Amino acid sequence: MPRIERRVAISNVTQYMNQCGRIRGLLSHGLLGLALLSSVGFAAAKMAQQADHRTLQEEAAAFHVSPQRLQESRRYLYGGILWGSVADFWLMAALAWLVLGGHSARLRTWAKKGRGTEPDEISSARTIAIYSFALLTFLLLAELPWSVGLGFFRERAYGFEHRTLTQWCGDWGKSYVVSVIVGVLLIEAAYALARKTGRRWWLWVWAVCAIFALAGTVLEPVVVEPLFNHFTPIQNVALRDRILAMAHRAGVPADNVYEVNRSRQSGHTNAYVTGVLGSQRIVIYDTLLQSETPDEIMFTVGHEIGHYVLHHVWKGYLFGIALLGFFLFIASRIFNALTRNPRYRRRTGIASIADAAALPLILLLLIALAWLAQPIENAFSRWEEHQADAFGLRICPNPVAAVTGFEKDVRTDLIAPDPPRWVEWWFFTHPSDLHRIEYAERYCARHGIEVPPDVRVP
Ligand SMILES: [Zn+2]
Repeated sequence: MPRIERRVAISNVTQYMNQCGRIRGLLSHGLLGLALLSSVGFAAAKMAQQADHRTLQEEAAAFHVSPQRLQESRRYLYGGILWGSVADFWLMAALAWLVLGGHSARLRTWAKKGRGTEPDEISSARTIAIYSFALLTFLLLAELPWSVGLGFFRERAYGFEHRTLTQWCGDWGKSYVVSVIVGVLLIEAAYALARKTGRRWWLWVWAVCAIFALAGTVLEPVVVEPLFNHFTPIQNVALRDRILAMAHRAGVPADNVYEVNRSRQSGHTNAYVTGVLGSQRIVIYDTLLQSETPDEIMFTVGHEIGHYVLHHVWKGYLFGIALLGFFLFIASRIFNALTRNPRYRRRTGIASIADAAALPLILLLLIALAWLAQPIENAFSRWEEHQADAFGLRICPNPVAAVTGFEKDVRTDLIAPDPPRWVEWWFFTHPSDLHRIEYAERYCARHGIEVPPDVRVP
């Protein structure tokens, strides 16, 4: 990452620390500590990169890309991690400000619409609905500068974004509506149970979240995704027949392959197998159809079929729910300890877990725990991705295409191929392209398949 970009980021954090002068307490200090830690981390990453004695030219030659493109992919990665982390801390700081400044209690009093100013031992369903609508709107608006900065302007600067700002805002508006409707329903259901269950509230909230997450997994591909994109049967009939034959060999009962017009949004490429409970379908981005060769597409789809056959949707769901249960348990302990303290209760105006004003505190604890647990979540994801790679290599007709496809990721998607170990460990949901290429090359070597010298990564 160029030094200038780093300096801007750090001065932003300093500015933000000054603005937050009024926020005191363990939580906010902890968050700022994390922000500083991540800055130190970036300095370490930069040094690690400099310590590598290979020149940029040599590294670029190894991946068969230009040095400029390799450098650009690294800028895209580190800038994304840095600004993404700042956006995460920003959201946590907004929640801490609501809780510690007593603003959450004020918002709840407003949501009660003149029915007293005392803290609620138990908020009514009406108060919860008004409060959660206002809170979600506040949070989505607080995040908007980051969403538009990272999701639109930065993507456009790197040549990925295809929408106009107006179209982007239209899509943001749609996801705002979906998020608020689902969020208010989820919070209402969770509070309805938490109200009755006292100290064991976290168990019931967990159950509600598990049901909502399951409904989301089933409904998202058929209800939410068509709001943003068109799905049509793939035009290339020869490719469709090859893909379906491969899917049937793997035991996937798909009868059509769909392409989705993701070029409407951006130039990023992808493919996926979606649907549970009878709505299975293979979906390929139109951008992938344009950028990959038929053999590369066969490997990519083989990888996605691997996710399906190995039940990764269900395993990911169960893993996520188990982790959420653990987070809710920890959050409930911290919440109980905090609200037992009379000084804290006076300061925040939060009476109990069934008080609507408690919601930002619970959200803050859950988001902070999820942030800290990123290495665990991502290690699980990388393990699944590696399994899917192994499956794709076994089932695709030409495993060498896996190597050329991964190399192409640097050129088409600006995926930095060889991040430092700790960056991969903390932030990567997929193994780095270098590790994926190495595995594919070992697979080819084991099966006597020759990887041509102009493809092989030394
Ligand atoms: Zn995958």
